[in-house]
Amino acid sequence: MRGLRDRLKTHRLQGIILCCVKIVAPITCQYLCCLFCQFVVNNDQRVIDRSERNSFMRIKVLDDEVSFCRIEILGTTDALCNQIRWCLTRDLRTAAITSVDVIKNTSPFPSEYVAHRIGMMPLVATSLHAREGELRLKSDTPGHVCADELRGEHFQVVCKDAIVTSLPLATGIELVAHVGMGMGKDHEMHNHVAAARVERRTQGTCYEQPECWCDSTDFGEHCKLCNGIKRLAHQNETAHLIAFETIGAVRAIELFKRALRVTLAKCASLSVAISNGQIACET
Ligand SMILES: [Zn+2]
Repeated sequence: MRGLRDRLKTHRLQGIILCCVKIVAPITCQYLCCLFCQFVVNNDQRVIDRSERNSFMRIKVLDDEVSFCRIEILGTTDALCNQIRWCLTRDLRTAAITSVDVIKNTSPFPSEYVAHRIGMMPLVATSLHAREGELRLKSDTPGHVCADELRGEHFQVVCKDAIVTSLPLATGIELVAHVGMGMGKDHEMHNHVAAARVERRTQGTCYEQPECWCDSTDFGEHCKLCNGIKRLAHQNETAHLIAFETIGAVRAIELFKRALRVTLAKCASLSVAISNGQIACET
């Protein structure tokens, strides 16, 4: 009987174990499957989210002053941001004094000096479609001759109190400055943007603190090479900061919008060239 009871106990134990296995095993398998599926789903979700994020470029204006602006761009690449920066300094059509005819100059300063000084003065167009024009200056009043005395129909100087020359008693100056449109890539006098820069930054972190992107520095460490902090990998989305200063003729954000339009037009011409089969590869 004892042997039978033991066998029954053993059977019962085996039965319990079997039941437990029958119940626990599927749950465990299901749990592991769920974990795996969850991981896969999460992984896919992450990929989908990332691709969706990258397909929508988002632009946020962080600083909008007359002669300075800083913009955060998300969902784009270093190359495109560099193209926009390049466009800001090289591809925007801007007015400038291209030559000066000195009719009379009895001031203490040589005509070349006066012409060079006037040539560096930034202009703003007062007529919407002005492409060229003249600014005239005529003075024999002793004292400083300021830039606001340069008068023209379609253009005016931005810094009106800039000194052109000084006139002692019984001296005078008369000149005509010729204004033309051009781009920064033609000559620097047609560039209204200074100190244009692009930075790659981790979104949400303090943009005033330098950030390190050196390969040799470990994540989370302070970099001895560039003095920045190397953020943790995949901590947040990568943003691009574009910042620049201007001479104040056109509001900085307006120049940025122009740069976006020019870049878009360039991409559109590229698209047309591709679709028309105008790109030929010579072997
Ligand atoms: Zn570094």
